[in-house]
Amino acid sequence: MEQLRLGDIIIDVEKKDIKNIHLSVHPPAGRVRIAAPLRLDLDTIRVYALSKLSWIKKQQEKFRNQDREAPREFLNRESHYYNGKRYLLRIVEIEAPPKIELQHSTIILYIRPGTSLDKRQRIIDEWYRAQLKRVLPELITKWEKKLKVKVNEFGIKKMRTKWGTCNRVAGRIWLNLELAKKPPEYLEYVVVHEMVHLLERKHNGIFTAYMDKFLPKWRFYKDELNRLPVKHENWNH
Ligand SMILES: [Zn+2]
Repeated sequence: MEQLRLGDIIIDVEKKDIKNIHLSVHPPAGRVRIAAPLRLDLDTIRVYALSKLSWIKKQQEKFRNQDREAPREFLNRESHYYNGKRYLLRIVEIEAPPKIELQHSTIILYIRPGTSLDKRQRIIDEWYRAQLKRVLPELITKWEKKLKVKVNEFGIKKMRTKWGTCNRVAGRIWLNLELAKKPPEYLEYVVVHEMVHLLERKHNGIFTAYMDKFLPKWRFYKDELNRLPVKHENWNH
């Protein structure tokens, strides 16, 4: 894949056996792609992209203003997501260590009276982290067998721009804490994506062939993750 740079806008250019040039801007971060016929050279494509610059900027602006999860205040009846399902928050103030319980469609947050917003956020983040830690070992083992690779270590962290990363040398994968909110198939997709990087570093034809072989629906999950409202997140890895 080639890239064009117009100021601070980076455009992925893919040459294909097609008749017409095709420009698209993708949510949530406004990534720009051009699919161009094989006969067009990069200069011609640049001229085309320049002629569309104001349109590109307008689309990017649109994405910046939408698809953004409102900041949580941790109040009663606020929506919170876990495992792809929406829960309504119920706050129970109690003189005891904090904990979280799920009951049907309610997520109950037990906190001491006067717990700050930051602390509420930390409690729920730690709970999300614990849920991921609970399911990941089995998921990773399953895919270690299928892909015949070895993950030495996995970690979970908040990431602003990526759903996951892979350090091939260390055999370590990192997963975005936000994945705890998504349906389990999406978590699995990201795990598989990062583990396939242990076989192939780049997003090239070899990588795609592995994904097609092992997780034929991967494009669907990828698009959905890009589409879902996520806080300043962007699938770019
Ligand atoms: Zn990747």
